[in-house]
Amino acid sequence: MSEQRRTELGNLGEFGLIDKLTGAFVNRNAGTVKGIGDDAAVLYRDAEHYTLISTDLLIEGVHFNLMYMPFKHLGYKSVVVNLSDIVAMNGTPEQITVSLAVSNRFPVEALEELYDGIRLACEHYGVDLIGGDTTSSGSGLLISVTAIGVVKKDKVVYRSGAKPNDLIVVTGDLGGAYAGLQVLEREKEVFRANPDIQPDLDGFDYIIGRQLKPEARKDVIDFLAELDVLPTSMIDVSDGLASEVLHLCKASGTGAMIYNAKLPIDTNTSTTAIDFNLDPVTCALNGGEDYELLFTVDQQDFDKIKGNPHMTVIGYMTTPEQGKYLVDSNDSLIELKAQGWNHFS
Ligand code: ADP
Ligand code: MG
Repeated sequence: MSEQRRTELGNLGEFGLIDKLTGAFVNRNAGTVKGIGDDAAVLYRDAEHYTLISTDLLIEGVHFNLMYMPFKHLGYKSVVVNLSDIVAMNGTPEQITVSLAVSNRFPVEALEELYDGIRLACEHYGVDLIGGDTTSSGSGLLISVTAIGVVKKDKVVYRSGAKPNDLIVVTGDLGGAYAGLQVLEREKEVFRANPDIQPDLDGFDYIIGRQLKPEARKDVIDFLAELDVLPTSMIDVSDGLASEVLHLCKASGTGAMIYNAKLPIDTNTSTTAIDFNLDPVTCALNGGEDYELLFTVDQQDFDKIKGNPHMTVIGYMTTPEQGKYLVDSNDSLIELKAQGWNHFS
């Protein structure tokens, strides 16, 4: 590694880095149905099923702040963010492993609370904790969770199956987790300046809940099965809608057109965003951590999902030549850009 060839991580971004590091790998085993590049890897299980595997690493100070994240919530959320990736393949999560690196800064009681949250998530989603690893860390807390799930072979949904004219659908509402984070960050600063002042979180329950206690939308997977709708592509919204739409377009080889006016944004999110001088649409597009599902369906399925309170049609897929755009409230076309979390900038 000579001085001349030094490339800054920030120039590549997270996804550019993953592509650069993993591009030269080939899969050698017939059991590897889909390796890198989707929400979970897909492995052969038996004649009718695939096994799904996904892993995430959460670092104190990067992904969570213990000043406002209670240990129990942290445990719950660490599991949920992984289950969300299994669900995004249209799968059912079944097992998790949990690995920890802890410093002696933390008492045993704190880690017991963390595991109370992990246990609550296991109960809620019917998942078994089957192993992990525990080690020491210099200062902070690191949590790595791997989730394992199952899906019927003919029901697996990749990021890559969307076609032009498919409808783009998102579940729940967007931007709330980011708005909640703004409130928590503000109260943290107030507390830092004067530890005697109690945090003022009144009226922010919904958005703070979106930040501290997200859920994986397993319920949506069940609704879709009941409605007999199989999405053509799907991803979970962990980095913000814009980034996820671009992932679906890249994997599927399509363009996309989404409409500002159609984005589902809760009034708690928009009023808070405006208080913080943020555009609510920007929170939805770039905020991240909502853990909703973004998927595409064939136009023929529109009648089955129309009017469903859990799902909003926000646009449609186009041909790649038509580009990837947001139609704003003045009917202007704005190119979709991923400004989601870029951990390296
Ligand atoms: P998600 O946001 O759904 O968790 P990521 O964006 O983290 O997905 O990852 C995209 C793809 O790249 C996944 O298939 C993931 O397994 C893979 N990946 C991420 N980091 C690495 C790495 N360091 N080495 C190998 N594969 C990786
Ligand atoms: Mg994902």
